[in-house]
Amino acid sequence: FNEIPKGFPEPGKTTVYDESETIDLEKAPLNGGFLVKTLVLSIDPYMRGRMRDASIKSYAPPFYIGKPLDNFGVGKVLRSENPAFKAGDHVYGMLPFQEYFVAQDAQQFRLLENKEGLPWSAYVGVCGMPGQTAYYAWKEWSAAKKGEVAFVTSASGPVGATVVQLAKGDGCKVIASAGSDDKVAFVKTVGADVAFNYKTEDTRKVLEKEGPIDIFWDNVGGETLEAAIEAANVHGRFIECGMISQYNTSDPYPVKNLIQIVGKQLKIHGFIVFSMHDKYQDEFYREVPRRVAAGEIKYQEDITRGLDKVSEAILDVQTGKNQGKKVIVVADD
Ligand code: NDP
Repeated sequence: FNEIPKGFPEPGKTTVYDESETIDLEKAPLNGGFLVKTLVLSIDPYMRGRMRDASIKSYAPPFYIGKPLDNFGVGKVLRSENPAFKAGDHVYGMLPFQEYFVAQDAQQFRLLENKEGLPWSAYVGVCGMPGQTAYYAWKEWSAAKKGEVAFVTSASGPVGATVVQLAKGDGCKVIASAGSDDKVAFVKTVGADVAFNYKTEDTRKVLEKEGPIDIFWDNVGGETLEAAIEAANVHGRFIECGMISQYNTSDPYPVKNLIQIVGKQLKIHGFIVFSMHDKYQDEFYREVPRRVAAGEIKYQEDITRGLDKVSEAILDVQTGKNQGKKVIVVADD
């Protein structure tokens, strides 16, 4: 991490690729820890929020200038002095953006057995943090009833596409928005009843025609949130997952119709996925990888190879250039 960005992160400026440090894979001291080879790293929207002044408090720690980024990833243990993991094991957790690293705290990592034989990349997407986000919060707050109408935004990404499928599974009519015709086509393949490109169609008009909406899955905030409040049914549930339209601006959109929350008796649920791990994590790993392997839950990935491409990948996710879950493949197994 090189510099705090003002607006969108700038490749080669905000983050830089650096080959100056090396590690001796045979001899590097482990000091009771384990040596990990990084296989895949996740690029997530929330990483923009970590590019901030380290003194500003938030739910996720800041990145530190001069230090590697870190995020969810999967690695393979090469050598270990920790009884929790042995050479050949695959671990999921927060990985530094390095090809190899020595980890000390085994509790920060989860052993992935992957009996289903999924690609490791799936464990940072539909079977990782974004999938958990969709699964936990939909279960906790949708209170979905058959025949209700759900509106899902950023619907082609790993969170949105999973939510579309959970909502269909609960018998909802699903309206889904995404930012390109290709993304809309994908969202239709995962079952959305109505899918539209919000850049070429007016969200308010679509909701007026297809709503009112009972459940709003918000990944976007801003004007879309305003349109959803307008189109909400009485007793609607709003699952406030993200507001990416506001992440790269210092001039946030002023949502003008908040007063309708009162009259429509809306329930607004903001959340951070980690807060629900204790309740849902075991169930998630029992259910979701199995259902993904069986083809019951579909997903789409946008894979880039090499740590030198991380900067562009981060920007792509902020601007919507990614076509599905953005993953950096650092090495093959
Ligand atoms: P995605 O793969 O969906 O990538 C982000 C997408 O956001 C882009 O592809 C783009 O899609 C859309 N986007 C970007 N800018 C805008 C804009 N100005 N207006 C509308 N849409 C925009 O990411 P994820 O599935 O990983 O995450 C989806 C959301 O969930 C994010 O808001 C993220 O912050 C949030 N999240 C929240 C968590 C929590 O604990 N609360 C945990 C994980 C994720 P498009 O082209 O369709 O516009």
